[in-house]
Amino acid sequence: MPKLQDKGLLKTDLLIDGGWHSARGAATFPVHNPATVDLITQVAQGGRTEADAAIAAADAALPSWSARTAKDRAAILRRWHDLILENAEDLARILTAEQGKPLAEARGEIAYGAAFYEWFAEEAKRVYGETIPTPDPDRRLMVQKQPIGVCAAITPWNFPMAMIPRKAAPALAAGCTMVLKPASQTPLSALALAELGQRAGLPAGVFNVIPGKASEVGDALVTSPLVRKVTFTGSTEVGRHLMARAAGTIKKLSLELGGNAPVLIFDDADMDRAVEGVIASKFRNMGQTCVCANRIYVQDGIYDRFVQTLSTAVSALKVGDGTATDTEQGPLIDAAAVQKVEDHIEDAVSLGGQVTAGGKRHPLGGHFFEPTVIAGGTQDMKIAREETFGPVAPIFRFKDEREAIKLANSTEYGLAAYFFTQNNGRIWRVGEALEFGVIGVNTGNTSYEGAPFGGLKESGLGREGSHHGIDEFLETKYLCIAGI
Ligand code: ADP
Repeated sequence: MPKLQDKGLLKTDLLIDGGWHSARGAATFPVHNPATVDLITQVAQGGRTEADAAIAAADAALPSWSARTAKDRAAILRRWHDLILENAEDLARILTAEQGKPLAEARGEIAYGAAFYEWFAEEAKRVYGETIPTPDPDRRLMVQKQPIGVCAAITPWNFPMAMIPRKAAPALAAGCTMVLKPASQTPLSALALAELGQRAGLPAGVFNVIPGKASEVGDALVTSPLVRKVTFTGSTEVGRHLMARAAGTIKKLSLELGGNAPVLIFDDADMDRAVEGVIASKFRNMGQTCVCANRIYVQDGIYDRFVQTLSTAVSALKVGDGTATDTEQGPLIDAAAVQKVEDHIEDAVSLGGQVTAGGKRHPLGGHFFEPTVIAGGTQDMKIAREETFGPVAPIFRFKDEREAIKLANSTEYGLAAYFFTQNNGRIWRVGEALEFGVIGVNTGNTSYEGAPFGGLKESGLGREGSHHGIDEFLETKYLCIAGI
């Protein structure tokens, strides 16, 4: 159990219509600490009945919430932001306990998540319509933006404190209400955020949280005729399934799905910057992010030096419990994640890959894994084609710019890509040729709430963050006023 200053932030019930409720039959499920594999607590397990009750509450709260002024809604979101920052230390302890990331990363995630409430509190006041020059003197044409209605959010375990604000802030700012189903590995972060939302003054029913069975809660959310919009972050496989289920009621969808991010390091790159960028991108959250570098392509001229420098830096990363102050790499989320990493390494080695750092389960045991570098990567390896979602950096060799672009784009995914070069012309050419939604040039970290985040191809639909982020929760209505 994390030690908290405010024990009231450790919620284990369902939030429906402004009240905390246990599940039918007092059903619960366990939440474990991935570092110790110990039980943290049991959490109420919602099902279809609870999901339907939450949807009904969100539907009932919609008329009055959407009728408030944007400025009024913004004031509540701003208070939510302030409360998150005031309670950041407790929230970080909850996040590290259930997710495993080092406390420093947890604090960073919480500040990043809070920033979405600030950004969209401001943006709520700038939802502008249009007037259109009339084709007829007798008419006036107007375009209004209106909240889409009740929204459902389904979120993953890798950023349990940031993925929720990224969805809830624009939705609520726009005047929508929401039902959230957080990932079952990390419901405590979601419930703590929800508690702070209640304290910030959210009216009953505006924001509801139902942890529980994906097959019941998730399915109720994506099939209910009362829900007009689904916003999901998770795997492409589940996203595809949700899209098919949502088709029955023609819901608007935002999908932030899997990635297979390439990093291109050209001969003219600044080596220190490239190594630092690859570590930031690849090893953040122990490699468990959808924008993590998954394939590192290095040009011939600097290949050997890069492999050596990166391997030395990766071998020095400190692995441990996320609550220890010097920890840089925590555990992976569960045993299946460790298994997948091991499988990708075995496959790569059997096809000629050379392990130049790490490569094994960590002596700490449990879900800990050594940060790993594999040189001599080839396109037939699983690690080149699938998202590893773990701390393994595979390095591939390339000869020229054309080949690098072709290799980078040879995937069905299109979320994030990175490249390192000091050549200005190349920055433009490569930046425009890469088929990815988010591109980092000479950096491994592009996160900012004021910039649009989202993928091309099978990495998803829609954008989160920036002014584009609020559009996802708005309908466009055309008014044609005649008889003037
Ligand atoms: P991850 O690899 O991040 O766990 P998933 O796509 O498996 O990604 O899960 C992301 C979220 O989607 C979680 O909240 C999970 O519970 C939920 N989820 C998984 N399967 C379904 C489903 N069939 N219907 C609705 N939600 C689901």
